Amino acid sequence: MFHCIESTGIDSNCYILESDLIALIDTGTHKNYRIYDYVDENDIQIDFIINTHCHYDHVGGNKFFEVPIYAHEMDYLDIKNATEKTFYWGFTPSFKGYENVNPLKEGETIDLGEYLLKIIHTPGHTSGSMCLLEEEKSYLFSGDTVFKGAVGRYDLPSGSLDDLKQSLKKLCDIKVKEVFPGHGQSFSGKDLLFNNYMISLMEGDI
Ligand SMILES: [Zn+2]
Ligand SMILES: [Zn+2]
Repeated sequence: MFHCIESTGIDSNCYILESDLIALIDTGTHKNYRIYDYVDENDIQIDFIINTHCHYDHVGGNKFFEVPIYAHEMDYLDIKNATEKTFYWGFTPSFKGYENVNPLKEGETIDLGEYLLKIIHTPGHTSGSMCLLEEEKSYLFSGDTVFKGAVGRYDLPSGSLDDLKQSLKKLCDIKVKEVFPGHGQSFSGKDLLFNNYMISLMEGDI
């Protein structure tokens, strides 16, 4: 079962993939009680969290769940230690990070049963930004790397335009049916390929 908890404000979207194991992809800010309520009301037992990158608007809600956290190896220590790269001041002042944060590598897979998530490292927004590809369902969870008609910022700590261009090229080679971004509505994989902003970025026009 697939749950999409679309955000209305600064919180990231949250996605729950429910099968033999239950994974929660991104959790919003530390004030994102919506995800806490949703999981509680639907009596879902989250097994672990996967963070697409280290920013506070994606990892703040991790605090609601005492489960292992996974993130790309280039971002996981930032989540663990609440470094400046995460914009930790977006958390509560006393926040010192999370205990159980574990690294993921490019190409690794996470098997939930009905869903098999493949790690695609897509640096650019942060050095450890990643997308999650579910090949059989043809879903891509894109974090803040790409949105409907736009791409993520590359001017934040550890961000890089060159890296982002490479990551977007990588994503264009993956044919998916549906893209589920970190913010805003989901969109068709075709829009990923014909995203004008992405193409001008790659051609160096902007
Ligand atoms: Zn975000
Ligand atoms: Zn971000």
